[in-house]
Amino acid sequence: MIPILDSKRQYAKIGNEVEKAVCEVLRSGSYILGPNVKALEVELAKYIGCNYTVSLNSGTDALHLALRALDIGAGDEVITTAFTFVATTEAIGIVGATPIFADIDPDTFNIDPKKIEERITPKTKAIIPVHLYGQPCDMDAIMDIAKRYNLYVIEDCCQAIGAEYKGQKVGTFGDIGCYSFYPTKNLGGMGDGGLITVNSENLKNRIIALRNHGGAIRYHHDEIGVNSRLDEIQAAILRVKLNYIDEWNKSRRAHAKTYNELFAGCPDIQTPKELPDTYCVYHQYTVKIPNRDNIHKMLQEAGIGAMLYYPIPLHLQKVHAHLGWTKGMLPNTEKDTEMVISLPMFPELTLEEQKTVASTLIDCLEKSKAVAV
Ligand SMILES: *Cc1c(COP(=O)(O)O)cnc(C)c1O
Repeated sequence: MIPILDSKRQYAKIGNEVEKAVCEVLRSGSYILGPNVKALEVELAKYIGCNYTVSLNSGTDALHLALRALDIGAGDEVITTAFTFVATTEAIGIVGATPIFADIDPDTFNIDPKKIEERITPKTKAIIPVHLYGQPCDMDAIMDIAKRYNLYVIEDCCQAIGAEYKGQKVGTFGDIGCYSFYPTKNLGGMGDGGLITVNSENLKNRIIALRNHGGAIRYHHDEIGVNSRLDEIQAAILRVKLNYIDEWNKSRRAHAKTYNELFAGCPDIQTPKELPDTYCVYHQYTVKIPNRDNIHKMLQEAGIGAMLYYPIPLHLQKVHAHLGWTKGMLPNTEKDTEMVISLPMFPELTLEEQKTVASTLIDCLEKSKAVAV
């Protein structure tokens, strides 16, 4: 059995350090908004390259509070991709705004800047590009459109910590960047967690207030907020893991290169493409194949933990049915939804395992062809 992700292997390496950090928090008696949260926010601002970060309960809250801080709500439209995790559009719905979908570039799986402009209306307030699978979006093109139409940009970086576009980390191009520390992410906690990155001091202060019941001063509440604080235990764990993130991302990139080489002679397998001058961090290694659903089943039976991210595009989900999107409106998104499959990818994956994954996938493709004939 080769899993898509094996968190236990990572724990075997850093468990001692993590346990020491957690025990220190337990003994300290300071569990909420204490020294670890403060230090983590400073360390991540330095790592990502922005003025401020604010830690939160989840990546979903990061998106939600980013929209709140920019005063986006009922009657507003936000342009984003349907080829993402539901949290992206859920956040738009939570604030009462309407997600408007633009199709993807089939080479990168990310929102196609050329498709954004035709979706802009007088109601459009913001664009949410998603750096899917750890691959940066074409930020020059997106920021150019945002400037020309005076739109906010909120980057969904939940899968892309450490990823760079032209030497600059994602989350520093738009007005606000949103990160998740869900355990399976490249920098994952041992529970839920999230973060926003921001350069504006005003926006930073607004989000600090929103995460703590809508008031910067205790028992003084200026607006309806939420409870979305990251706890000290998670912050302490994340501080340990932050020391390893570059090394882990490097390993992921090396594994992606190995997979690319193993699949080089297979025209049926479309390996992921990178935009020039980007540093992709391969949260997922996702290929496109024919006859995907059958192959997925065959791989599972062969003990390969392949996964489908995501099996239904968001414009065709029941939750958004009232918006009136139908099949055929986002052809690239719909086509890729039926072809993508993500293969085992984590820093501790071995070469032997990669070879097994590759030969099994190639085998399954051959078999499914034989059946088709
Ligand atoms: C994981 C993820 C989120 C949500 O993050 P949570 O911390 O699970 O709330 C949002 N967007 C994308 C693209 C994600 O992968």
